[in-house]
Order: sequence, then C-alpha cells, then structure tokens
Amino acid sequence: MAASILIVEDEEPIQVLLRYNLEAEGYRVRGCVRGEEVFFMMGEERPDLVLLDWMLPGVSGIEVCRLMRAKPESRDIPVIMLTARSEEAERVRGLATGADDYLVKPFSVPELLARVKTILRRANPLSVAEKLVAGDLTLDRMSKRVSRGVRDIHLSPTEFRLLDQLMGNPGRVYSRAQLLDSVWGRDAYVDERTVDVHVGRLRKALSRGKEADPIRTVRATGYAFDERFGR
Ligand code: CA
Repeated sequence: MAASILIVEDEEPIQVLLRYNLEAEGYRVRGCVRGEEVFFMMGEERPDLVLLDWMLPGVSGIEVCRLMRAKPESRDIPVIMLTARSEEAERVRGLATGADDYLVKPFSVPELLARVKTILRRANPLSVAEKLVAGDLTLDRMSKRVSRGVRDIHLSPTEFRLLDQLMGNPGRVYSRAQLLDSVWGRDAYVDERTVDVHVGRLRKALSRGKEADPIRTVRATGYAFDERFGR
C-alpha cells in the first residue's frame, strides 16, 4: 500500500504544491493547517511520515514535533520539518526536538521527494519497495501482479490493495475500521463486514488445497499478514 503522508502547513500554495507532487508519486496524502489538528488526524489513521511546517498559527511545528516524540503512539513516526528559517542554530534546534530531517523554504520539489523516499525507506523498507515477497508469494507494485510459485493470482483492485496493506506490514494487526480507511478510503460508505467478505475472497485466491494461509485472523481485533509465512 502506498505510504501515507500527513502535511501540516498553513500556507495554501505550499500545501497544494506538496499534495500535487506527492500524489503524483503515488503517496496517499492528507493535510491540515493547524498544529492542534495533528493528533486528531493521526488518531484517524497513523501516517507513515509527517511534513511539518515550523511556523503555524496556534501550536507551532516545533511544539507538535516535541509532543509527537513524547507520545508512545507517535514517537516512531518520521517527521520532516519545513521552514523559512535557515539559521544553523534553528536547524539544530529542529533536529534536537526529534525531527528526522529539515528542509528550508523555498525547497526544490525533487529534493523534497528524494528526502521523503529516503526517510520512508529507513523507517519501513517495505513501504517504498517495488516488490513484496514472502515465501512463494510475490506482490509486484509496478505491474500490479500477484503470484504464488508459478501460479498467477488474479485479484480485484480492492483485494490487491488489501493484500498490499497487510503484506507491507507483516505481523501488524489491522482492525476492520483501519482496513476500511486505508484500503477503501475514508469517504467510502461500506460497513465492516465488507472487509470480511474481501478477506475471504483474498484467502480463496491465495491458497489452494493444502497451501498455507498467509493471512491471520486475530479474534475480536482484525487481520494481519502472518510474519512467519514462508519461513
Ligand atoms: Ca507557516
């Protein structure tokens, strides 16, 4: 599944520029303009990366970054700070607060994209991998193909995204609500049983006969890609 990026930026032209370019790279992008909104948005869906403007109305970017680092649920989310300040002392302060990287406005878009990719790869190599492989199962994000051994597996676009999401984070348990948000999108009006139906179809497509099932049902919680699959 494409990595999800949260942009926190109060200057609309920059927010638009970032969103346009990140979406063109295939990332899923959400945005907000105030520091106070960040934790609400992270509660809805955990982003893989936050692009955080330093100068925000209300709670400043540096304060948001400090708060993120203090909370267990957001401690590990990478942050790139964006700022108009270029003084070395400010840069040091930003990194000391826990930002992973730092870009001074006006920044070049190719440079921003390169930094985003580097940091995502460092945080979770699978989030930017072109291919996911587990045992005899391969998911190719470029050609949108899935195979098990020599057998091609035909999946609907929804089932492909579902497998991508689970396989890209082996062992992580997703609730049905989280899968609805990330696979179907927040605006889709489908209920949680839809997830069960699609997981059922996905399982049927992936495993034949005595082949091991790579998807684990976690009772009263949701689903995970079995991290021991193929080992
Ligand atoms: Ca600003």
